[in-house]
Amino acid sequence: MRKIQKNGMFQFTNRSKHISFLLTRRMIIWISALFFFVPSISKSREKAKPKQTRTIKSPQSAKTIKKSKAPAIIGRASKPLPVIMLDPGHGGKDPGAIGRSGTYEKHIAYAAAQELSRQLRQTGRYNVVLTRNADRFIPLSGRVELAQKHRANLFISMHADALRNSSIRGASVYTLSNSASDAQTAALARVENNADRYGGPNVHAVSPAVQNILASLVKEETKKESITMAKSIVTAFRPQIGLLSNPRRHAAFVVLKSADIPSILVEMGFMSNRIDESALRQAAHRTVVASAMRNAIDRYFAIGGSMTHLTG
Ligand SMILES: [Zn+2]
Repeated sequence: MRKIQKNGMFQFTNRSKHISFLLTRRMIIWISALFFFVPSISKSREKAKPKQTRTIKSPQSAKTIKKSKAPAIIGRASKPLPVIMLDPGHGGKDPGAIGRSGTYEKHIAYAAAQELSRQLRQTGRYNVVLTRNADRFIPLSGRVELAQKHRANLFISMHADALRNSSIRGASVYTLSNSASDAQTAALARVENNADRYGGPNVHAVSPAVQNILASLVKEETKKESITMAKSIVTAFRPQIGLLSNPRRHAAFVVLKSADIPSILVEMGFMSNRIDESALRQAAHRTVVASAMRNAIDRYFAIGGSMTHLTG
């Protein structure tokens, strides 16, 4: 190889291959500068968004992800807890039943739901949501809508209503049915479903989605799971809490009309009975009631209770 300088230009020759290159000094400076800067620019771009470019576009990095243990860890962490929606009956301008010594059902229902919520959260196995966290009025369809919104796996409405016959006492559990199991339950459903009268003329102006839910027939699967849950509650109540005769009953309760969510209504006792009213006023008794309900919920999910989530 030979190097000759001619008119400010370098000429390289290689006689064996007859190839030559002509370069100006300015060209050499520009090329050197490009070699120096281009790698540093591309490095700084990688620093700016390293994860996106690597994980989305490179097939090699996809292989790396498959080999790592990360997906298994992510899988365990993202498994959702069952969502339990507790619905303390009544609230705000709707006091519910008023006991013989003046106790408002809405306060008893709220206190009992708070206690059950505390116990369920303590297990770490459930995500617990309440339809109301204060003394406020919520229409019945609004309660159903909340359960849908939170994609609840189980809906439990908690009450302590009144009957005409003040001698009747004990707890009972209700599921939805087009026809009532007995006259007493039919009357109870009429009173419960009438709670919306406190909401004024606009209370029935619900969204079309909720109207569809209320109008549709409840799925057979949901009915079965609701009955399983109701049985579980009755079994847990039996040894320690007084029960009505035939404590598992059914009627057309509006608040239970959620097509995809197993739903039950629990009457923890009756405000119309002095003994029940007095017991439900005591925190210690409500703790026992909540504890039995927590056991029933545990049993329900242990035997494969609903993990159904709404898709829409
Ligand atoms: Zn009630």
